Amino acid sequence: MSEATPYISKTERFRPKITPTPDRLRGKVAAITGGARGIGRAIALRFAQEGANVLVTDKDLEPARETAAALEQFGAASKALRVDVTDREQVDEMIRTAASNFGGLDILVNNAGIIVFGSLMECAREDWDRMMAVDLTGAFQCTQAAGRFMAEQGRGGRLLHIGSTASLLPTAQQAAYCVAKAGLLMLSRTAAMELVRFGITSNLICPEGAVTDINRNLLSDPAVMSALESRIPAGRMARVEEIAALAAFVASDEAAYMTGAELVHDGGAVISALWWR
Ligand code: NDP
Repeated sequence: MSEATPYISKTERFRPKITPTPDRLRGKVAAITGGARGIGRAIALRFAQEGANVLVTDKDLEPARETAAALEQFGAASKALRVDVTDREQVDEMIRTAASNFGGLDILVNNAGIIVFGSLMECAREDWDRMMAVDLTGAFQCTQAAGRFMAEQGRGGRLLHIGSTASLLPTAQQAAYCVAKAGLLMLSRTAAMELVRFGITSNLICPEGAVTDINRNLLSDPAVMSALESRIPAGRMARVEEIAALAAFVASDEAAYMTGAELVHDGGAVISALWWR
C-alpha cells in the first residue's frame, strides 16, 4: 500500500445510529461469557441499556469488573465474576451467582472465544485441543449448566451462541476455528430441540467480522483490511454495537418463536461467493 494513498477503512468511518429499545429486557437476568471485551462487552452494554441485570464473566476478573462498572450508568444491577469456560466448577459458580445475586437466570450468551490461525494439515494437536476446549466444550458446559437451571426454574429462557460465518463456510487458515464454530451450530440446534418444551430458545449469531482484540493486530495492516472489506458486499466489517443490537432482539420476549436459527450477520458475504460486481 503506497504511503501517498493511505487506505481509509470504511469500517472505521461507519457510525450507525443505534437506539436501544428501552425496557425491552427489564427484569431479565443475563450472564455473558467473555463479557469483558469486544462483542461480549457490547452485548453487556446493550442489555443493560434495555434494562437487564447483567453478570459479566470473563477469564480475567479485572477487565470484567471494568465492564460491569460501565453498566451502572444505565441503572441496571451488574456484577463481575471470573469464569474460565473450560472449568466446569467456575461455570457452575456462574449459575449459582446469577441465582443468588439476581434471583435467577433468563439469558445466557455463549460469547467467550479464541482463534488459532492455521491450516488443517499443519494444525498442532495442542492448538486443536485449545480451540475445542474454549469455543466448543466451553460453550457446551455453559449451555448444559444454564439449560438445566432454566428448565428447573420454569420461566423460559434464551441461549445465544456467538458463532461465526466460519460456522457455515470453510475459511482459509482458520481450520480448527471453523470446526469448533460449526460444532457450536449443532450444539445450538440440539439445545433448541431439547429445551423448546420449557420455553427456552437457542439461537446462533454468525458474524462475519468486527474489529476487536481477537483480530486487531491482523486488521491493523491496511492491506489486509482493504482485502477483507473488498470481499464483503457491504464494503465493511460490522461494528460490535450492530451485533449487540441483534443479540438484544434474540434475547427478548419478541423472539420467543425463533429457535434453532442461524442469524447470519455478514454484510452479504456468505451469499456472495458466485457474485461479481
Ligand atoms: P475478544 O478477544 O475481544 O473477546 C473475547 C473475550 O473472551 C475476551 O475477553 C477473552 O479474554 C475471553 N475469553 C477467552 N478465553 C476465555 C475462556 N476460556 N473463558 C472465558 N473467557 C474467555 O473477541 P471478540 O469479541 O471478537 O469475540 C467474541 C466472540 O465472537 C468469539 O466467540 C469469537 O469467535 C466471535 N466472533 C468474532 C468475530 C470478530 O470478527 N471479532 C467474528 C465472528 C465471530 P482474554 O482477552 O483475556 O483472552
